[in-house]
Amino acid sequence: MNFSDFVGTVSNRLREEMNASRLVHAYLFTGPAGTGKRSLANICARALLCESPSGRPCDVCPACRRALMGNHPDVRALEPGGRGNQIRIDSIREAISWLEDRPFEARRRVLILCGADKMNPAAQNALLKTLEEPPGDDVIIMTTDKASDLLPTIVSRCRIIRFPLLSEEDAVKALINHGLTPTKARLYSRLSMGSIGDALALSGDVSFSARREQVLNALRALRAPQDVPLAALPLSGVGKESVEGVLNILELCARDIMAIQDVDGRVVQTDIEAQLRQLNIRGSAMLRGVFEARRMFRSNVSWQYVLETLFFQITGGSEWQP
Ligand SMILES: [Zn+2]
Repeated sequence: MNFSDFVGTVSNRLREEMNASRLVHAYLFTGPAGTGKRSLANICARALLCESPSGRPCDVCPACRRALMGNHPDVRALEPGGRGNQIRIDSIREAISWLEDRPFEARRRVLILCGADKMNPAAQNALLKTLEEPPGDDVIIMTTDKASDLLPTIVSRCRIIRFPLLSEEDAVKALINHGLTPTKARLYSRLSMGSIGDALALSGDVSFSARREQVLNALRALRAPQDVPLAALPLSGVGKESVEGVLNILELCARDIMAIQDVDGRVVQTDIEAQLRQLNIRGSAMLRGVFEARRMFRSNVSWQYVLETLFFQITGGSEWQP
């Protein structure tokens, strides 16, 4: 993967940035999850270590190849982990002392901090001094989808590169570049609302299609309040970790049903539009129900009760006594 594999202006800007004298010591890539921050941070690191006189990263020189295989001694990436999913102060101290050593073979070292907002304030303070007085030509690249969790003093010492969500057309192009067919690219770009990472995860996720089929079957079986227990049965057995996924699919379906019922609406899941059209469900009531279900589930109400309440609401019943 190289700069040219990314659609949009950010990758062009970074290509220029990494190959020019405008380089600074610290970059902060900010933007929603799935917009390519991490992939581009890796490409930037290779561009900074590449031995080719131009077109960096060339991806064929020894430096590029070693970085691609993850064993270049002058690039290091830290990411959150362990208890509390943090980047701990010990890891930051260790990375700083690594930066202070002379590079092994390149002219500089590159440190990537993925999810930089997962440094607690102490870890951020430890990094601050290095950001103020960085050693040699070293470059630190931080990525975050929550820049508000970083100390203002950290942010102000970085060149900030903003990663926007892509427009639908750009997302479609990017997904076709990733090997999706045009139809699937269109569908998943809509489902993920401009996040390429989410779109790729969904398109490769067989459980998404299977789960959506399960949801559709349940909605088809819902014709009257007395259908609720049976219709809910297959979905009430899903694990706790899958509940948000089910609710997301129910929300998508509710929004599409609303789009079908509103003459000017635009259906996102065009591949199942015909099936959604056959459902006798009021989209707006279903959407309200999904919001309420999400709220109930997050306040620890049992999933089976949440689901049956939602389904009861969808059938038009006003109150549900299990
Ligand atoms: Zn190279």
